[in-house]
Amino acid sequence: MDMTLPEFLAHAIALEREAAERYLELADMMESYRNDAVASTFRDMVRYSRLHHDSIVERAKGLALPALRSWQYRWRHPPETGGEEAFDPQLTAYEALRYARENEFRAQAFYSQAAADAGDAEVRRLAEEFAAEEAEHVAALDDWLARTPRPSTPWREDPHHQG
Ligand code: ZN
Repeated sequence: MDMTLPEFLAHAIALEREAAERYLELADMMESYRNDAVASTFRDMVRYSRLHHDSIVERAKGLALPALRSWQYRWRHPPETGGEEAFDPQLTAYEALRYARENEFRAQAFYSQAAADAGDAEVRRLAEEFAAEEAEHVAALDDWLARTPRPSTPWREDPHHQG
């Protein structure tokens, strides 16, 4: 999709706000399990998302941003968590990391596609920069996943997309 600068910034702001909210939930959950190491990683992610969000809001100053529909930026919940709004309270650290990784990868793919499709040079420049940041987040989560034991019940992949 070739987006105008306001369209692109509206998506980026919504993606970062969504990420901050979901990471905060995951951090609280891991803290309640006394998994302080993973909780603090998620709190770092909350902080990065908020900083990024605020800098994009700053960049968008003076522009009229379009309203978005929630499916355009909300995180996908893992298939085994029934509700749209709530996480499975039994989510293990591994599943939480895997879930975050899937959504970070989705954000990276979104920005990469936006850069590839961009007619506007500023949209392309920002989208490339944001895609690189998301790639760092994916790599950080991959590091964690490599060091985290898999749960005994395997993560069920959503067959409709790859992460
Ligand atoms: Zn990210």
